[in-house]
Amino acid sequence: MRFPLTVVPAPQVRRCGGCTACCASMGVREFGKPMWAVCQHREGDGCGIYQDRPASCREFECLWKQGNLEGDERRRPDNLGLMFTAVNNATIPTVAAWEVIPGALERNHFLLSKMAERLLVYCIPHGEKTRRRLMAPKHLEEQIKVVLEKAYDGQEVEENW
Ligand code: SF4
Ligand code: SF4
Repeated sequence: MRFPLTVVPAPQVRRCGGCTACCASMGVREFGKPMWAVCQHREGDGCGIYQDRPASCREFECLWKQGNLEGDERRRPDNLGLMFTAVNNATIPTVAAWEVIPGALERNHFLLSKMAERLLVYCIPHGEKTRRRLMAPKHLEEQIKVVLEKAYDGQEVEENW
């Protein structure tokens, strides 16, 4: 069975086009940009220092850009309002859902709940530094409790949102 927004095994090549969602959500360590700050170098729908952008920008691709999510341009972060990233150091399969447009978590709750049938979905509400929402597959509930105790110290986590 295929679900919308499911991580897919056969990535497609995609272009960012006019999206700059990561430039207003991810932190950039090279020049100390905190998460959720709009980058000083963002110009219109692109990067004003594209040829000289730092390594963390060159190396970053959201899951949509990587082609690891089903769907067309409507699922691009600036259109969907959510940007997905893999959480590589997680002990259970996890994706982070960044709410790049306010209200997008609520609007896409059904899609997120389908993802959460297989993955831990770690939702980052727009502009939030510490408050998180977790959606977890039923069969991982016990593991999630252990993960929560160890990994999310200092964050305010709302489970089974
Ligand atoms: S959020 Fe994804 S699609 Fe948008 S600019 Fe960043 S990498 Fe490209
Ligand atoms: S330097 Fe360019 S690519 Fe990097 S966050 Fe800023 S605008 Fe985006």
